[in-house]
Amino acid sequence: MASPQPRRWTTEPRETFNADTARKFSRYSGRNAAQLADALPCDCQPYVDILTFGRWKGLDRAPAKGQKAHHIACKRLRQYTTDDDPETVLTASIKYVAHVFCRCQTVERRGRKGGRR
Ligand SMILES: [Zn+2]
Repeated sequence: MASPQPRRWTTEPRETFNADTARKFSRYSGRNAAQLADALPCDCQPYVDILTFGRWKGLDRAPAKGQKAHHIACKRLRQYTTDDDPETVLTASIKYVAHVFCRCQTVERRGRKGGRR
């Protein structure tokens, strides 16, 4: 049996977000949403007030010191090609754990732009 060809990824491992993209999601998990709603004592809404560090950063907020993330199981789709057939773009579903924070856990990131050293 031929060994599998190494994957040449054509998409970035992580997205970066800004204020426009921080709350745009390509997929939705009802199970994760329900799990978070159950776990949190507050009324924060999944996909609106419960976001990853990178998405909060895009909204100029960050988790306050000492806050613990909630862990949720996620999948992300990434495109790749192989050396055997570089023309054909394939899609892989990658499982990962996302660390999310609700709005109550975050603070505004003040004066970080070109600021303190
Ligand atoms: Zn909250």
